[in-house]
Order: sequence, then C-alpha cells, then structure tokens
Amino acid sequence: MNHLKSNSHSVRATFLGGLGDVGRNCLLLECQNDAILIDCGVLFPDERAPGVDLILPDLDLLDDLSTNLRAAFFTHGHEDHIGAAPYLLRRHELPLYGSPLTLALLNARLEEAGLAKDADMRRLRVHATVRQGCFEVTPFHVCHSIPDALGFAIRTPAGMLIHTGDYMLDNRPLDGNLTDLQMLGELGSEGVLALFADSTNADVPGHTPSQKSIYDGLAKVFAQAEYGRVIVASFASNLARVQQIADLAHQYGRRVCLLGRSLERNLPLAADLALLDIDPTDLLPTRLIDQVPHEELAIVCTGSQAEPGSALARLAEGRHPLLEIDQGDTVIISASTVPGNERPVQRMVGELFRRGANVIFGQLGDVHVSGHAAREDTRTLLSVVRPQFFVPVHGSHHHLALQGQVAIEAGLPEDAVMVVGDGAALEIGPDRIAQVGQRQARYIHVNRGAPRAFISERILSQRRQLARAGIVVVTARVDLRRERLAGKPQVRGVGLFDEADDVLADIADELGQRLASDPEPLADLEEAESRVKMLVGRQLKAETGLRPRIVAIVTAG
Ligand SMILES: [Zn+2]
Ligand SMILES: [Zn+2]
Repeated sequence: MNHLKSNSHSVRATFLGGLGDVGRNCLLLECQNDAILIDCGVLFPDERAPGVDLILPDLDLLDDLSTNLRAAFFTHGHEDHIGAAPYLLRRHELPLYGSPLTLALLNARLEEAGLAKDADMRRLRVHATVRQGCFEVTPFHVCHSIPDALGFAIRTPAGMLIHTGDYMLDNRPLDGNLTDLQMLGELGSEGVLALFADSTNADVPGHTPSQKSIYDGLAKVFAQAEYGRVIVASFASNLARVQQIADLAHQYGRRVCLLGRSLERNLPLAADLALLDIDPTDLLPTRLIDQVPHEELAIVCTGSQAEPGSALARLAEGRHPLLEIDQGDTVIISASTVPGNERPVQRMVGELFRRGANVIFGQLGDVHVSGHAAREDTRTLLSVVRPQFFVPVHGSHHHLALQGQVAIEAGLPEDAVMVVGDGAALEIGPDRIAQVGQRQARYIHVNRGAPRAFISERILSQRRQLARAGIVVVTARVDLRRERLAGKPQVRGVGLFDEADDVLADIADELGQRLASDPEPLADLEEAESRVKMLVGRQLKAETGLRPRIVAIVTAG
C-alpha cells in the first residue's frame, strides 16, 4: 500500500501492534511531514512459539515512511510498552521520552542491549508540553499497577488526540496521586477529536477497586501465617504491590527478601526516584535467606505466571538453590493469570501444595486487583473527555469489540467508534474518521540471547514439527558419473521414539535397495535429495505413523 502524505488537516494512526493481543503496543502517528511513536513494547509468546522469548511490533512498517519519524513517547515502564525499544533504536536514531521511572527501566533494557550510552532519553513532566514537529504532547498522570504512569494529550493541526496509556481510576491510590480527571475534563472542554482508550478490562463490569482494597486481604494472610514464611509472587514491575508487602512485613515483624533478578533490578531504581518507601539496605540479602527464622521472613518473588526458571517455578519444582518450600509456608500469588498461562500456573500451584505450602491464589482471598479500568470506569472517562471519536486500544479482539460497545452505549454514534486490528491505518480529521488502509503487522519473534536473529512463522512451524515428531537425517552419496548410489545410505533420528534406531536401520536398508533397483538415474543432487526425502517419509509414515521432519544430505562421491 502506498503511504499517502497526510494532509494538513488529518492525522494518520497506524497500529504496529497491540490490537488483538495484550502486548507489543506500538502506535505510529503521522501528520504533515512528521511522525511520532507512542510506546514500543513486546508480547510474551505462548507454547505455539517454542524457544521464542519476545514478539515485537512490526517495525518493518517504519521502513518506508514518507514522514520524518521524530520521537518515541512511552506511557509507562511495563514490558508491553517499552520492551521493544532496543530493537527500535537499532533501526532508528530518535529521542525517547518518558517519566523518570519509565526512563530508568528503559535505560536498564538499553544497557543490557549495549545501547544505553548513545541513547537520547528525555524526561517528561506532567502538564509540560513537548513539541516534536507538528505534534505537541502534554503528559498527564494516570494510576496503574506501576508508579509514574502517563497518558498523553496530543495536539495536532487536525485536532487533539488523547491516549490514556494503561490506566485505572483509583480513588485511593497508594501514592495519593489520582488519575488526572481534572486535566482530562479541561481538555474535554477544549474539544477532543479522538480518544484512544485502554480496553484490557472491557469484559469486567463495574469499577476496578482501588489498589488499597487488597490491603485487608493481604493482612489477613499475614495474620494467619503464624510460624511459616510468607512468600508473595507478583510481577516484578508491580512496585505498588512490593510496597504493600514491605509495609505488611514491617507491621508483622518480618524481614523482606527479594527473589528474582528483575525484582532485584527494579526495586533500587524506583527507590532512587523516591517512588517507593523502601530502603534497599533494609532488605535481607538473598544469601542470608536461610538464616532467618521462618516466622520472621517475608519473601517477594517473581514467577506469578510460572515462567520457566523464575523463582516461584523453581521453588515449586524443588530446584531453587537457596530455598525449599516447607510445611507451614504460605504462598500468595498476587497477580491474575495471563490468558494462556493457566495450565502451567495450575501445575505450579499443585506442586507447591504437594510440598506443604498453603497457596492463596485466584478467587481465594482478595490478594490481587487489576491495574486497568473496568467498564464503568470507561463510561466515566468518556463522560469527562467527551471525544468526537473513540478508538479502543490495548486488548485482544474481544476486549476491543466490547470496549467499542461501551462507547456506543454511552451515546457515541456507531460510525464514531473505530474497532480495528493490528496493521490498520486510520485517517482522523475534523468531523471525520475512516480506516484508509490495512497492512500486515507481522509478529517479529526473537530470542533474548540472539537479538539479531529473527524467527519467521516458517521457522516456527518447523520448530513445532520438531517438537511434535522429532527429526530424521538421511545422508547418501551419489556417483554422478554412473548416476547411481555409491555405498549405503545412513538414516539417523533425534526425538523420535524408543528403539527408533532399529526401525531406522531397516529403513536405511530398504532405501538403499529401492535406489539401487530404481531404473531412474540419479543425475542431479537436489533432485536426489527430494527423492530420498519422499521415500523415507513415506516408509516412516507406513511403519510408525509418524511424520518427523526429514533432512536429506546427498553428496557427490
Ligand atoms: Zn501496564
Ligand atoms: Zn500494557
């Protein structure tokens, strides 16, 4: 599709990711000759992508811009908003804007990638407008499960856009800092062309309760824990939760110890910025974790999603180098299970119970609350902002569709609500919004250890086949002068089934005989390879029912 230049009275919004998944949020805004990005995050893959750590937004869509990409603005420090920034920076030199905590977390990511030194990071302050080309971006505070989160008012020659970022309407936030409905109301009076709003909880009725509301639930668990340790698993970025646990631990005479690399990295960053009331030097060093009586210890750890190798997953498997679960320990999973992780989490919870822990999770006890606005909160937002157009963002397709319904129920005309998916391009101008394009926003799969090796869908399907049925390698030599097989072919397999070697030896014999008696000459190596593959594949299927991946290597000899 051709990238038409936006005329002076319209903004083009293209979604490089984030619509259809909770993850890889990345929105490109173009107006006149300028472009900016809002967020550049990752999506965490499920079991359909073996060996893949991260899925990026389709940054290839930035390659043929006719506009000038001026800057990236980050709403907050969660991975689904900042995680792909290193990949963006490898391709484009541009300033990165964010709040102090967002920049600190971003910097940690860039340091890992060896990109921090040359990065141009610029601090945002609420209500202080930044100009980039024809975009004027004014940040405002929003409540979320991480401190220092922002939404953006974006003034353009076509009108004003508002992007909520991830937000909730918490009327008793832990840090006392409310979502800035006052500024949103003022912007509403000024006139808002389009509102892009977080849809994560569009399937949750009512209001999202305050982060403070779970304090009692957590306190009850601490009170009942008595003689065992209290182990709380949460997201490493949920610093508000870490603060709550630290406060409760103090109240119940327990020392706090952090388990998990990302937690140990994030906490000092937030404490440095005075966003947490925890002195990192008060924390019990991990190496002393086994020297404190159980009833005097509270552990905050990673692994709420049973991520392989995370602290809680290793405890459940009895493979943690420093700690073993004991009778009387209480484990709290203070996070909701991300869709797709249900089975591993269930297995982990089962293992923890088996080892003697009491596990509080899911609906048992009020130990978690979401950081995203529910349906009634969206209605409140709409009544405050009163936008002309509404675009649901940040969610799976069902979240986006349901969020669109909320807006229509709240009185917006149907054609003012644009429910679209990844790759969609919207043209937004005074009194009009329309989808003007649909590009493919492909998944870019990467492995953290090999950031420059991209894994396409074709490679993934090979990996799935390997995982399902293993691999068979056939080697053979061909005498090209005589156009016949030279010697015996070899057939080896990996990941097939018990006693596969015997079957493969028979198949090798059979293959040798078939090729030797075949009147068709073996004149071309490539052609010989596909014939070998076909013959071995057919025979394997007939004898075992399996269809492993077959690799044939035929050489001249
Ligand atoms: Zn978030
Ligand atoms: Zn998010």
